[in-house]
Amino acid sequence: MANIVSKILKNECPNCNNGKVFKDKSFFFSVGFPKMNEHCSSCHYKFEKEPGYFFGAMFVNYALTVGEGIITYLFLLNFFEKPIDLRMIPIICCVIVLLCFFNIRLSRMIWIYMFRRYSV
Ligand SMILES: [Zn+2]
Repeated sequence: MANIVSKILKNECPNCNNGKVFKDKSFFFSVGFPKMNEHCSSCHYKFEKEPGYFFGAMFVNYALTVGEGIITYLFLLNFFEKPIDLRMIPIICCVIVLLCFFNIRLSRMIWIYMFRRYSV
């Protein structure tokens, strides 16, 4: 499991672990919509198996965003006296917006790894 997480964070091809999925060098700090390679440069594994393949990654992205929002809320409980404080909302929103580009990449990587054994 830790091995797969490491491969996902290193942007490695799920088939051969040599090629890169995204063209961007930095997986974490790239701003903008991610540019993906169509095929692996090493083993020619096709990342987008069919049109609209990454539509499902949107649900992974949603789960990641909700999880990050909950973690941020739990972290903020240490700094506020009441459990529900309206000042928490803009802070949570800022964290979610800052992490959105990272989440797009991460959700697509998770989606690719979820169906790496499935071939069309
Ligand atoms: Zn490959």
